[in-house]
Amino acid sequence: MMRLGQLAQQSGWRRRVRARILALPRGTTQEDQRMMARAIELAHAAGARGEVPVGAVIYRAGVILGEASNDREASADPTGHAEVVALRRAAITHGGWRLNNCSIAVTLEPCPMCAGALVNARIARLVYGARDPKAGAVDTLYDLCRDVRLNHRMSVIGGVMRQPCAQLLTDFFRARRQAKRGAATRPSAGA
Ligand SMILES: [Zn+2]
Repeated sequence: MMRLGQLAQQSGWRRRVRARILALPRGTTQEDQRMMARAIELAHAAGARGEVPVGAVIYRAGVILGEASNDREASADPTGHAEVVALRRAAITHGGWRLNNCSIAVTLEPCPMCAGALVNARIARLVYGARDPKAGAVDTLYDLCRDVRLNHRMSVIGGVMRQPCAQLLTDFFRARRQAKRGAATRPSAGA
């Protein structure tokens, strides 16, 4: 009986460890997790300001070189995606545009513009959270970060902390739809 109990306990422990490993894509480091948690904070802050909630952090050897939230509305800049703004800041910190040996953690799969910017910046590793079915240029619609025809490629880990990253976006767009519907049904001030 003792043996059976011990066995059950052990298999329960193994199951939990296995579930944890399965939840984290292969190659994810503790540093990646920490940086993604920070990117989620930045995404959350963007959402609170009425920007699509996406956050990005560029790091090397545990040090953050640049971080940003999506800033497109406030800056009225079509290139104001979190990745591009974070790249600009990281390049200033680093003192040059070549960000080799750097990783980026971003809550959403990069779009073609951002994936292209990561290639141009010579980023070594891309870690992203949720997939983007409408603009994803890394796994979903294109594979710009590993295209052998381009002069630089990087390693990619997708799906890191995917659930909270995707939830932020789902909640944001739901709230926006509800606000629009509310505005449509509200009588106008002049009526
Ligand atoms: Zn983008």
